[in-house]
Amino acid sequence: MAASELHFLLVPLVAQGHIIPMVDLACLIAARGPRVTILTTPVNAARNRVAVEGAARAGLAVELVDLPFPGPQLGLPEGLENADQMVDRTMYYKFFEAIWKMAEPLEEYVRALPRRPDCLVADSCNPWTAGVCDALGVPRLVMHCPSAYFLLAVHNLSAHGVYDRVGDDEDEEFEVPGFPVRAVGNKATFRGFFQWPGVEKEHQDVLHAEATADGLIMNTFRGVEGAFVDAYEAALGRRTWAVGPTCAASGAVGDDADARAGRGNRADVDAGRVVSWLDARPPASVLYISFGSIAQLPAKQVEELTRGLEASGRPFVWAIKEAKADAAVRALLDDEGFEERVKDRGLLVRGWAPQVTILSHPAVGGFLTHCGWNATLETISHGVPALTWPNFADQFCSERLLVDVLRVGVRSGVKVPAMNTAGVDVGVQVTSGDVERVVAELMDGGAEGAARRSRANELAAEARAAMEEGGSSYTDLEDMILYVSQMSRTRRHERDAGSTPVPSTTVELETKNGAEKIEADAALSVES
Ligand code: UDP
Repeated sequence: MAASELHFLLVPLVAQGHIIPMVDLACLIAARGPRVTILTTPVNAARNRVAVEGAARAGLAVELVDLPFPGPQLGLPEGLENADQMVDRTMYYKFFEAIWKMAEPLEEYVRALPRRPDCLVADSCNPWTAGVCDALGVPRLVMHCPSAYFLLAVHNLSAHGVYDRVGDDEDEEFEVPGFPVRAVGNKATFRGFFQWPGVEKEHQDVLHAEATADGLIMNTFRGVEGAFVDAYEAALGRRTWAVGPTCAASGAVGDDADARAGRGNRADVDAGRVVSWLDARPPASVLYISFGSIAQLPAKQVEELTRGLEASGRPFVWAIKEAKADAAVRALLDDEGFEERVKDRGLLVRGWAPQVTILSHPAVGGFLTHCGWNATLETISHGVPALTWPNFADQFCSERLLVDVLRVGVRSGVKVPAMNTAGVDVGVQVTSGDVERVVAELMDGGAEGAARRSRANELAAEARAAMEEGGSSYTDLEDMILYVSQMSRTRRHERDAGSTPVPSTTVELETKNGAEKIEADAALSVES
């Protein structure tokens, strides 16, 4: 089957750190020929329309389709459709219940299509898609949005009974067993997704949907995570493709400046203004600060950060979304005059910043990051050394990878997640003095700092090379599409004529360089 005859459905989790890489993936797949439909809720579709329509104008067969979000049926406010809109932690239970209910509109949508799609790619946190695919005979891949390091660590800790042994003790230190590198920590900083009280069923659904998937896609690349990807593939026994970092894609997918500036949402600042501001600064002199789409620093911690930044004397751009939601933070910036005092060297973006536009500017020389996996890949892909400030979930693992394994990061000194399991804020973890010291270490750092920067540049080159034709991620994506083509053929055959074996075949794949024929034994690699 020619690649252009394939139709993929992509179902992202409705959270920025999951939708953004899924939209990238859609464009990357479409750039190889297949037609791709991204299914998401109206609010999330609207946020990503600029990027997707830009890609469509550039000739890619990619579209966004709205599925209704059942939140209001469960008492959630109308229009609350993304994890970054959650104002109260207790809403998460209803939010995930609503997400699980999306199975119904999804099934209706797929049934109404004139032809069954060839593959559905679901975020690992959307296991409710499995039942729909089973009912309709649609092949299903799982897309993982955190690092392979994190996935493997959580898997090994579970498989070797470490979580069971430590029980409720959040502080007991352990070493991750059977891991490619030495990794030490505690349960609080090695907690897996859905490993908190009240979502045990959802956790089981996630594990089951992954264990029964037709394959796994990871947003990472073998240059930094090969050992973790391979070990995870072996542990799960599922075919696995590392196709990232998706943020480093070029060509029709990644080179459009407007699409880049509007990645995930419309920026709350004019991207051109930020670029002009950065143009006026020396190379590698500016610190960029962002805690991603979900983590919110408490006002007391913001205050320590403002004082530390003032004392550091460095230029910075700070995406400070807390200024939107927290009156105490606004008072610090406005009434107490922080913004005014630093106006000659500090640019505050109150809300959503054009992050990749900023990180790709040569004036940016450091990234104070919460270590979300996308932020981590973005800092790696742009050769920007990181000041690591994890908040929750996989972020502590990204910190370990950046600092201990890749040696392109400096720790800010955060020890535990910003909130404990009871939802209580643990308060200030990094004082103004710490901030001043670690910012100097990251931005200067003498010979060690220079070596860190040079390693960061090498990694960025590797990341870009992985995404270029012939690179490991390019090849993995090609292999995934070929696999889907074979699998879909088999499934169609089974649907039409029972379980008649599928003969060896020649699969035609269209690549950027034109059509290529790839000899493949269709029956070989296909799992039923
Ligand atoms: N992002 C952005 N502007 C912002 C904040 C975040 O463009 O002001 C993007 C960022 O580039 C990344 C994503 O949102 O691609 C956040 O994902 P990540 O995994 O870093 O963190 P999360 O938000 O999931 O904690």
